[in-house]
Amino acid sequence: MIPGPKQIIACAHCGALEYYTTLRSGNTFGAKLYSDGKQIAPMLPQTPPYIECHACHKTYWLKDAAKVGTLPWSSSRDDKGESSWAEAPRIQSPCEKKFYEAIERLGADGSAKDLRQLRILAWHKRNDAYRKAPKAHVNLTPLARKNMENLSVCVWPARSDNGCELVVILKVIEK
Ligand SMILES: [Zn+2]
Repeated sequence: MIPGPKQIIACAHCGALEYYTTLRSGNTFGAKLYSDGKQIAPMLPQTPPYIECHACHKTYWLKDAAKVGTLPWSSSRDDKGESSWAEAPRIQSPCEKKFYEAIERLGADGSAKDLRQLRILAWHKRNDAYRKAPKAHVNLTPLARKNMENLSVCVWPARSDNGCELVVILKVIEK
């Protein structure tokens, strides 16, 4: 894996600066692919597409953030120069509860594609707590169950190559 520069972005709501690390190259050596479709690859880390601002704590799509500039990947808070950029914290994925709140908001006027992606991200977030204990029983809260039921409706009319995904979702709801 060869890291690229740190991409500095501005929160789509308040303008606070955050960063994510880009990659020049990576690979899937040592990667794990889970039955919910999430892949965790140490040498190919994924940048979360939906994030929570560290300053205003509102959530937004990374694609909606303004790209402010870049810093070398090895830069730190001790570096001189672009001090406000070097102080910017790494982007963070929201907690599960914030995904459900975003789904409620988007359900009214968002695109079907964004809504489906948010539902999948909420599903992955719920499962993250169980990835290190694969034999643990996954507890579905009422919000998680509702999300899974709505996700199955989202997936149903999609292309046939999502058939496996739908089977997994329906099996989870059955339990
Ligand atoms: Zn903000």
